[in-house]
Order: sequence, then C-alpha cells, then structure tokens
Amino acid sequence: MAQNPPDLRPDRAQARLDRDLSTVRAGRDQPTIGMVSLGCPKALVDSERILTRLRAEGYGISPDYSGADAVIVNTCGFLDSAKAESLDAIGEALTANGRVIVTGCLGAEPDYITGAHPRVLAVTGPHQYEQVLDAVHAAVPPDPDPFVDLLPASGVKLTPRHYSYLKISEGCNHKCKFCVIPDMRGRLASRPHKAVMREAEKLVDSGVKELLVISQDTSAYGTDWSDRPSKFPILDLARDLGRLGAWVRMHYVYPYPHVRELVPMMAEGGVLPYLDIPFQHAHPDTLKRMARPAAAERTLDEIAAWRRACPDITLRSTFIVGYPGETEDEFQTLLDWLDEAQLDRVGCFQYENVAGARSNALPDHVPDEVKQERWDRFMEKAQAISEAKLAAKVGTRLTALVDAVDEEGATCRTAADAPEIDGNLFVDRGFEGLAPGDMIEVEVDEAGEYDLWGARVDA
Ligand code: SF4
Repeated sequence: MAQNPPDLRPDRAQARLDRDLSTVRAGRDQPTIGMVSLGCPKALVDSERILTRLRAEGYGISPDYSGADAVIVNTCGFLDSAKAESLDAIGEALTANGRVIVTGCLGAEPDYITGAHPRVLAVTGPHQYEQVLDAVHAAVPPDPDPFVDLLPASGVKLTPRHYSYLKISEGCNHKCKFCVIPDMRGRLASRPHKAVMREAEKLVDSGVKELLVISQDTSAYGTDWSDRPSKFPILDLARDLGRLGAWVRMHYVYPYPHVRELVPMMAEGGVLPYLDIPFQHAHPDTLKRMARPAAAERTLDEIAAWRRACPDITLRSTFIVGYPGETEDEFQTLLDWLDEAQLDRVGCFQYENVAGARSNALPDHVPDEVKQERWDRFMEKAQAISEAKLAAKVGTRLTALVDAVDEEGATCRTAADAPEIDGNLFVDRGFEGLAPGDMIEVEVDEAGEYDLWGARVDA
C-alpha cells in the first residue's frame, strides 16, 4: 500500500534496524541471533526489548542472515498487505538462514504462519517476550561469557541513539470496526508510572534527546488502574517526563476532553507542542459506522481550544478514505473539515479489509477507483495546507535536533517533525562539526511541500 504512512512501512523499519544493528555486531564466538522487525514503532520497541534481553544473556546480534544461528522475525498483522509482507519476510529468512522464530502481531495467528511456512521453529504472539526467549534458548543455547555480556545502560536500541520510543501501555479498550488490534493485543494494560519514568530517566542519562511516547491509546494511559492516583494519569506522566530535559513527543493521543489539560504543558515547554491524534474521519455517520465517537464539530472546537492555549502547536492526524458506505457527501464533509481544521501533518489510508475486522461485513464497500480518486483529492488538499504552513516559517528561527550529517549538510527535525513520519529541516550552511543529537538554532530560508531548508545561526 504505497499510500500508507511510512510508520507502517516495513521497509523503513528494516532500514532503521539495519543501520543500528551495525553498531551491535556480534563477537566471533558468541551464539548470534538475527532480527527482522516489521511494522510500526510499537513493534520496533518490542524488538528492542527482545534484543536487549538476548544481549544481556550473552547472545550476539547479527546484522545479516548468514552470520546468525537463528533469526527472529517480528511480524506485523495490522493490514492484510502487512500480513503478506510478514509471510514474505519469514520465507526469505527461511531460505537464507533456515532457523526462524516468529513473533509479533501475526504470531496471534499461528496456523496462518505454519500453514504457509511449516518449517518455522516456533511461533509466539505479541509481547510474549519470555516465550520468544525460550524459543531462542531451545534453538541456540546461550553461552554466557562475563567479558561480552555487558548490557549498555540504555539497552540495545534499534533507533538512533539520540531518540527513543517509550512504550507506556499495551492494548486498547476501544472497538473501532476497522481495527483488530484489541483482538491481537488485548485490553488496555498500562505500565506503572515508576517503570516508565525509570526507563525514561535511563534513556536520557545515556544521551537520548527525544522521547517518543507511544501506545495504542496514549491519552487513556493509567485509566485501567483500579487504584489510580488521579483521574487522568497521562497528565502526571507527561508532567514528570517533561521535567527530564529531553524533548517529549506524544503519539496516538485519542481526542478525549482531558487532552485540553495536556496542551498547557506544551505551551509551557515541558512537552513538545505536538499532538499526533488519529481522527480517522469527520462525518458523524462515517464515524458512527467506524464505531468512533461522532463528534466532528466538537473536534473542531477542541482544535480551536488547543490552538488558543498553545498557538505553536503542531497537529498530526491520520484518516481513512473509502470506508464502507462512505458517500460523496460524507467525503466532501471530510474535505471541508480539513479546510477548517488546517492540520499541519496528515496521513491517509485507503480503506482495506483486514481479516477479522467487523467493518468487512458492512454494506456498500467503495470501489477501488473511487477510493483512489478520493485519496488523491484528500492528499492534494492536505499537501496545499502543509505547503502554506511551511511557507509561513520562512524567515523564522527554529530549534532543531540533528539526525544525520554528511558532506552536503545536516538533516534535522524541529518540534513540528516526528522522525520517520514527518518532514525534515535540511541545514546546508554552518553544519560543519555537527553530530547526531546536537541541538542547533536555524534560520529557515526555503520551504517545500513537506520539508524546510535553512542555515545554522548559533555557531
Ligand atoms: S483506538 Fe486505535 S487501536 Fe483502539 S480499536 Fe480504535 S483504531 Fe484500534
């Protein structure tokens, strides 16, 4: 699905993985494990956790199939297209290595995997870390060595070392009809506040400059606790994370009313003025068929309130076009809503059936060519909004975090840009001597549809 956002593109996740695996090459005599990590940032965090544990037990991590004693494939099962890619990746690992352990979302359907690939050594479901480790121990027994079993303070990280995903909960209590995540990942289970803070502090101590808070439903964090210390524990967590001195970026924030209380923290600078909120649609009837709250007008009111409280806030969202039963009128409502909402960053999916999703059984599926045509119209509008918003930044000074540097310049991001899914600020003057993780001041002198260009001004 070329139109789907890069955070769901396994090829992007793999590139990131390959890049970082080169820094954790195995010692020659260690048992070594390869890892193929498909899917979203949440799956990447799971891969990091598994590798951290393996590394702690003395395993080496191999950057290629041939150097590995076994390969773990962390699968994605969100869309049928992602399932097919997962099966392909398993097949490739079997051909290249032969000893393959499967985990992740698609692991919730073991028959589907073993039906296509009966030779896999083991299949475990999402977050079954212990079972994955058991499968690795059975396939490649550990060989402890006190000289190589040193665990870096921050664990083994597959993301670049200056930013890190921080998973705060698993699962979801919603029942959106197009989504099978609650079936695969279960109901909301929030990590204890202390455990999240401990991990975040360790990451910041080890040099991480940006924490990307992720979960299936970030604003619901802690509402599953029977003895919760406050009504909305996400507010306490955001406040405490904001005191660590790193950038804190909130992803997958469901638009509950208490999000209004998060926004002042963004205005004060504790948390980045950035909200990634999956609205999915704007027409009340479509939202109802999706089983999402039908409150499109109120979402416009909410957006206006957020902007009043924090004028610099960047709003990112994702949408589905061509949902079953979506009429031209409903789609036009979405376009008009987008005109009013003026979101900064927008991703758009064309609806597709996912095995097990309740939306499959809805009447009046939209023909593919209509989905494509609506997606084109939606993206044209979103692109025009993005272009105008970025043009307004020309001449301003922005703080930027350096992601990469080469001989032509530095690739950076501002508070408005999440890694992998948003644009970049490219610095082509004054970048000499910079390194990933540096924070710099940049004067913007050019803008495109999704990216900015500028010169460093604090050297
Ligand atoms: S809120 Fe997100 S994860 Fe939960 S059911 Fe809806 S789409 Fe799925």
